[in-house]
Amino acid sequence: MRHFDYQNGEMFAEGVPLARIAEEVGTPVYVYSTATFTRHYRVFADSFNDTDALIAYSVKANSNIAVLATLAAQGAGADVVSGGELKRALIAGIPAKKIVFSGVGKTRTEMREALTAGIRVFNVESLEELHVLNDTALEMGQTAPIAFRVNPDVTAGGHAKISTGKKENKFGIAWSQAELAYEEAARLPAIEIIGVDVHIGSQISDLAPFEKAIQKVGDLIKRLRAAGHTIKSFDIGGGLGIPYGNNTVVPPPPSEYAALVKRLTADLDVEMIFEPGRMIAGNSGILLSEVLYVKRGEDRDFLIIDAAMNDLLRPALYDAYHDMEPVKQGDLDKMETYDVVGPICESGDTFTKGREMPKLESGDLVVLHSAGAYGASQSSQYNTRPLVPEVLVNGAEYAVIRARPSIEDILKTESLPNWLSKHQNVTDI
Ligand SMILES: *Cc1c(COP(=O)(O)O)cnc(C)c1O
Repeated sequence: MRHFDYQNGEMFAEGVPLARIAEEVGTPVYVYSTATFTRHYRVFADSFNDTDALIAYSVKANSNIAVLATLAAQGAGADVVSGGELKRALIAGIPAKKIVFSGVGKTRTEMREALTAGIRVFNVESLEELHVLNDTALEMGQTAPIAFRVNPDVTAGGHAKISTGKKENKFGIAWSQAELAYEEAARLPAIEIIGVDVHIGSQISDLAPFEKAIQKVGDLIKRLRAAGHTIKSFDIGGGLGIPYGNNTVVPPPPSEYAALVKRLTADLDVEMIFEPGRMIAGNSGILLSEVLYVKRGEDRDFLIIDAAMNDLLRPALYDAYHDMEPVKQGDLDKMETYDVVGPICESGDTFTKGREMPKLESGDLVVLHSAGAYGASQSSQYNTRPLVPEVLVNGAEYAVIRARPSIEDILKTESLPNWLSKHQNVTDI
């Protein structure tokens, strides 16, 4: 069931016509579907119904507080990678005991915030970080629950920039050093070892790398227990791929992933933790944009739309493919070929080249599908373009869940030093 689909020739998000959102909120704008978020979460969670499992949604995929609250209502936990994301998760009502903290470069301040909140576990990525965490927890008179993120040296992920489980990647404790790391942690007074963590990459569309990683880490868990460590939880990260509309390989459904995980962990007696991001958010959102110009080039036509790489970076960053469709269902007998680009002064500001679409004109609305994950959360204000707003649809209603800032909002954080102006605030000028 697609919640972004045509009804009588016009694209809707659930029960709301996208043209209405464009009219009332303006473009470009991200539009999310509550029903899709909920369904994706349920599909994943229900496939682990019979398992002791925490589903810690990866906040960086889509970190809007309303999205987090939607998932919190379904029972989701959170995987955060910064103090800011931690704050979002707590505000959204996710209990601290369902929050795991990942990332290679946690600061002391972030550690203090997480210890104060009482999160479930720190996924520690180096011995250097381990010692800082121990010191921080000691100062606070607390104990920090930890798992080491280990790097199993497994190839996975849809693109070099989203592969994280190879030894040349910056992530995790090197495989050969994992057991020594646990020995070290066991000696520290303010550290409590509770588990093992692994995350091998993103947009993984085949189960083989998961199988390899789970087997390797499962064996490690047995060795760690034999060495006297208490291993209660096994976090296998996120990474499950989704269909983007062009996949030659169709990613496995969560049910197959779940069957694999259960088979490989059946004899481990651990609580499982999952950190899915893209699988839940990716196809829960679209980017809605308006055609500004159709520019007839010498050998190609450019569709210049009002969304740009600052709003959706994935094509520029990962050569990512996004399905595109007009909001008014076009005439499939009158297809044109376009290079779809944004207004930013970079050749990389290209969403796609040579894409066939029904004929479009200035003022027409277009949808970039599968933009719910790593879309708004990666957006920037490059070229002094206001951060793209976000809208959440729920049945026949919708709400703006991140407003478009005004240019004044952007400029007021900047100031001129006194040697350049008598004015302190740029906006006073
Ligand atoms: C990004 C990330 C995830 C989520 O990955 P998806 O591919 O979106 O599921 C999970 N865990 C960690 C540590 C991450 O960095």
